[in-house]
Amino acid sequence: MNEMYEKAGNIVANVRKLATDMVEEDLKVLDLVEFTEQEIKKLGGEIAFPCNVSINEITAHYTSPSGDKTVLKNGDLVKIDLGAHVDGYIADSAISVIVGENLDLSSRDTGLTEDEIQLQFKMIDTVGQALENAISTVKDGVTVGKIGEVVEKTITDQGLTPVSNLTGHTMERYILHSGLSIPNIKEENKHKIVEGDVLAIEPFVTNGVGRVTDMNDAYIFRFLRDRPLRMAPARKMLHEIAKNYRNLPFAGRWIEESIKTRQFNLILRNLISSRALYPYHVLKEKSNARVAQAEHTVIVEPGGCQVITK
Ligand code: MN
Ligand code: MN
Repeated sequence: MNEMYEKAGNIVANVRKLATDMVEEDLKVLDLVEFTEQEIKKLGGEIAFPCNVSINEITAHYTSPSGDKTVLKNGDLVKIDLGAHVDGYIADSAISVIVGENLDLSSRDTGLTEDEIQLQFKMIDTVGQALENAISTVKDGVTVGKIGEVVEKTITDQGLTPVSNLTGHTMERYILHSGLSIPNIKEENKHKIVEGDVLAIEPFVTNGVGRVTDMNDAYIFRFLRDRPLRMAPARKMLHEIAKNYRNLPFAGRWIEESIKTRQFNLILRNLISSRALYPYHVLKEKSNARVAQAEHTVIVEPGGCQVITK
């Protein structure tokens, strides 16, 4: 089982690097997510969830719909969040990069002041440090509240703010969020993690109010349950989804190609209102401030943890 996690973790680490290296001005987000997903398969993994590319104040759950024309711009703060699984054992990791970070951004048209650009670099450094400090805290018997406390302190010591209503999570075979949340702020949660637990730790840092809110759009969905449905195409689509993705998140883009667009959206709405599918709404920072994220998956050990996505 640990070998499966290690394999999934290696795939994610390799693809994360390749995806990061691709980031440049005018890159289509659609090309970035498709590349990332294809590369996971090429390296022998399965896709655990659609590649998320969330830009600036968009914090999580954005993946391209089919035909997405969104392109990256110099100065954008881009969060790439990807997941692979091997036989259901999932590795989940994320990184933040600034588009054009190797260029002299002050001489480019980014719409940002030099101070604003430097702040973004600081947010990325800080979120990476918060993740490292959290990882150093993880071992058998530590409370989840303690992990949150370490994350929060690392971030507030830099004069920045953690996103308080987003958390890390435990994972189990074919289950991305298996019940226990790993907070990014101090909480009176005495629940202890134990040896063998698999945790995705994912702090988010902002200079805004530190809360995310749902947008109307959703491009990622998850099968919830079978439902009696009147529309035959809806029944067929639900059956295909359950068969192909089980309870793991999938992209609307993945199934849209095989179905006519207008009908696809109609069926999708039907499946969501029937509570057969769960929609992951795009999340944005409430005060429209930019957000940086870092994430690794770890396996808890008696005296520490093994980071599988390094
Ligand atoms: Mn993730
Ligand atoms: Mn995660």
